[in-house]
Amino acid sequence: STKQTMSPENNSSSKVLNVDLGERSYPISIGSSLLSDSQFLQSQIKGKRIVIVTNTVVAPIYLAGLEAGLRAAGKDVVSVVLPDGEEQKNWTSLMLIFDALLEQKCDRKTTLLALGGGVIGDMTGFAASAYMRGVPFVQVPTTLLSQVDSSVGGKTGINHPLGKNMIGAFYQPQAVIADIGTLQSLPDKELSAGLAEVIKHGAIIDAAFFDWIEANMAALRAKDAAALTHAILRSCEIKADIVRQDEREGGLRAILNFGHTFGHAIESGLGYGKWLHGEAVGCGMVMAADLSCRLGYMDYVSKTRIKQLVEAAGLPTVAPDLGEERWLELMEVDKKNEGGKIKFILLKPLGQAVITSVPQDILLQTLRSCISH
Ligand code: NAD
Ligand code: MG
Repeated sequence: STKQTMSPENNSSSKVLNVDLGERSYPISIGSSLLSDSQFLQSQIKGKRIVIVTNTVVAPIYLAGLEAGLRAAGKDVVSVVLPDGEEQKNWTSLMLIFDALLEQKCDRKTTLLALGGGVIGDMTGFAASAYMRGVPFVQVPTTLLSQVDSSVGGKTGINHPLGKNMIGAFYQPQAVIADIGTLQSLPDKELSAGLAEVIKHGAIIDAAFFDWIEANMAALRAKDAAALTHAILRSCEIKADIVRQDEREGGLRAILNFGHTFGHAIESGLGYGKWLHGEAVGCGMVMAADLSCRLGYMDYVSKTRIKQLVEAAGLPTVAPDLGEERWLELMEVDKKNEGGKIKFILLKPLGQAVITSVPQDILLQTLRSCISH
């Protein structure tokens, strides 16, 4: 359910979406100037003691304002500033969080608050799931990707040298606070990466939302507040609805991996970090659309619309040439692959995802037509 709320104190307005997971339900608030609105913060965060976890990029821009807002709301606040980067999403950073919690003698009522992108959110959530067997956790996502994707759904964790996101837990936050004002400082490349997941949400389940994204892509890239608010809200609704039906990824939740089978192959084939995840997913969606079209699931017009929208988002649409053999190899090690047959998330038609295996000769046609030569 979605509702509009106004805070008289700070002139901030927000939209609220309730994620319905029984006793683990929580609200997602989306709006401007939320981080300095003490009355709003008070309404969202129950505990008195807060430990903010953030990083060296986000802290100089947003930490002081949030700390002041929380203190004005009567909270005791301590902050942990970690080094930035996906390569820091590891055991060492996790221990730095636990070190701070223990040094500060934090008890089970302490709330951990993640201020940052998906890396900070995933690590902080995992720390919250494990500290004293679980303490309250609040997400304050500051990248578009974390606002539309990683802060919803309860997956938390860290990377292991042998695999991404291999150590973690399902752990739901008490609240998610998406302040779109934070996106003003986000680099364009990171904004585009988040838009890939927004496009994905329309493509897999909501053709009308896909139409809306096409009509509003320029406004989104210009960081128009109304456009961003709608894109985030609808994305969270779609993801939350899928997660509600399949919290622990038994089946349906897999459709959120549309574009990701090809995308993961690009990421690991080039070496992680060469392309942003969202860039790989953008290109992966173009490839999955090509495959859907070849199998007769989707018409040529829809396939072209997907490619044009990915391009309009500022994302790559031509796949890197890793060699055919390597491409096939990389897709077979994908984690969605069960029992040897690659499962693809395809569109049948645009706005509706299906999960299926695919004849290898057709897959090869897609690879040949989508990779750069
Ligand atoms: P990120 O957290 O690394 O953020 C990208 C960069 O932007 C970082 O350098 C960060 O410090 C910086 N940044 C953050 N907010 C900023 C702001 N407001 N202004 C300027 N710079 C800012 O990356 P991400 O794309 O947010 O998240 C990717 C991570 O999320 C990956 O580790 C991925 O595995 C994870 N993820 C998790 C889920 C999930 O369900 N839990 C889903 C998708 C992705
Ligand atoms: Mg993704």
